[in-house]
Amino acid sequence: MFYIHPDECINCGLCLSVCPVDAVVWDEEITPASQAFVAINRVFFGDEVTGWGSPGGRDEKWVSDKDHPFVATYEKVA
Ligand code: SF4
Repeated sequence: MFYIHPDECINCGLCLSVCPVDAVVWDEEITPASQAFVAINRVFFGDEVTGWGSPGGRDEKWVSDKDHPFVATYEKVA
């Protein structure tokens, strides 16, 4: 899963256009069922998961085998 840093995202919309499974939506279009992912994305960057804080944008060095505990319960797909 790709995680979006809530403070670093500039709402350009690029990820919405390239996500093959339409998993990314504008903030105002988040459904109640997906609302938990707002916090999940924030927590991922904090000490509870990666401890990355604000990495300063996407870079290939920001790769981790860690997932937010909720996301880690998801079954992996090939
Ligand atoms: S591609 Fe744009 S909208 Fe998507 S996470 Fe990055 S800055 Fe935010």
